[in-house]
Amino acid sequence: MSQLQGPCVRNRVAEPREKVAEAQWTSKLTRQEPESEIKGPRHRFQYIGREVRRVHRLEAEWLLNDPLTNPKSSRDLIHLYLHIPFCRDICPYCAFYKHKPGETDMGYFVDGILREAKLRSSSINAPEIDTVYLGGGTPSMLSPDLIHKLFDGLGDIFRFAPDTEINLEANPATFGKSAAKTFAQSGVTRVSLGAQSFSPEVLKTLGRTHGPRGIARSVDLLRAAGIENVSIDLMFSIPGQTLDQWRESLESALELSPNHISAYNLTYEEDTPFFTRFREGLYTDIEETNASMYELAHELLTSRGLRHYETSNYAYPGYESRHNKGYWRGGDYLGLGPSAVSTISGRRWKNIPDTAEYLVQIGKGGSTESEVETLTPAQLDLERIALMLRTDAGVHRRHLSEVPPTRIEAIVSERLADWKGEHLVLQGQGTMLVDSIVDHLVS
Ligand code: SF4
Repeated sequence: MSQLQGPCVRNRVAEPREKVAEAQWTSKLTRQEPESEIKGPRHRFQYIGREVRRVHRLEAEWLLNDPLTNPKSSRDLIHLYLHIPFCRDICPYCAFYKHKPGETDMGYFVDGILREAKLRSSSINAPEIDTVYLGGGTPSMLSPDLIHKLFDGLGDIFRFAPDTEINLEANPATFGKSAAKTFAQSGVTRVSLGAQSFSPEVLKTLGRTHGPRGIARSVDLLRAAGIENVSIDLMFSIPGQTLDQWRESLESALELSPNHISAYNLTYEEDTPFFTRFREGLYTDIEETNASMYELAHELLTSRGLRHYETSNYAYPGYESRHNKGYWRGGDYLGLGPSAVSTISGRRWKNIPDTAEYLVQIGKGGSTESEVETLTPAQLDLERIALMLRTDAGVHRRHLSEVPPTRIEAIVSERLADWKGEHLVLQGQGTMLVDSIVDHLVS
């Protein structure tokens, strides 16, 4: 698989740790286990009641529109990612490229992003933009004027599809009423709110400066401004977090009626204070706890009608993240800003992960690329297996051509996966063992 990982594998805090042990996975292949409590996609649809037929239709549309299944679909559309690296406070678990604004001239930064957008759009033949994602960092730290300027500039440079999905990541502590209005006026259609937890103690451990009330207020502000589509990001397996605190966070999030919930398993990322504490033995990583919290989220959220459409993501029908689905399917994406990763027609590059140096290079018309690689079809297939197996659409048979059939038969006979048409889809406990299963298929 590619060493240079794009936002396709970029998740807030990292992916759930289905590392629920290689040993556990190996033993599953050799002995008969009782069927998991976790229900597979087909069972989950039972909870959705009258939405069942709609969900099946949406899933059929997904497969039909999958550029890998149907090459005539969205091949000429790309996904746009903008990295806004500024954060008011630095969270001790976060490994993304970010920093406090310091002396950075935000206006100059936005000019730099637009300049890169212009250069890139001419070199990639200005295809139509299907989705936009402003991530970071904390994009909601840009002032309303700069948000306007950014979107106006992008609109002059790119052609947007008529129904472009425009996502913005926001931190509950960083915007108010006028900013929420600006987001809406600028065309933002979906906000991903970094709530992480509704427990004051857990938020304190995470170094977050907002409280539970701030999350509720932010959702109200967004909805009042006209942004209906709100996703709430939550995290579990945080040091000291109990199962009850996790349940309360999930319940509190549901009370705000979000359209989508992301539930990420904390992982200890190198070069973070959390990693240091983990290495020193102050924090522990207990697989049983991870599994219990994952199962709790699955049971609770699917019982409320959300569809578990990707390992860490749940959505009411029709509210899946189109942008992330684009990555998982292998769509082309253009990343702008320091540290942003792009993949266009098999060429992948990463921008300089240094805001000052990035702006210097942009200013003098130099290259912003710090790493470049060309992906082979075999590497792309491995990525598709790793990413699409995380989704309830599964991975198309064509990407499995290099996988020995006996390995696939092993997971199917263990009822960890099954064929849905031409797609291999994980089911039951297989959804928790995705990393081990991917290793088993491709090693
Ligand atoms: S606000 Fe988000 S991007 Fe910034 S440090 Fe915290 S987790 Fe990382």
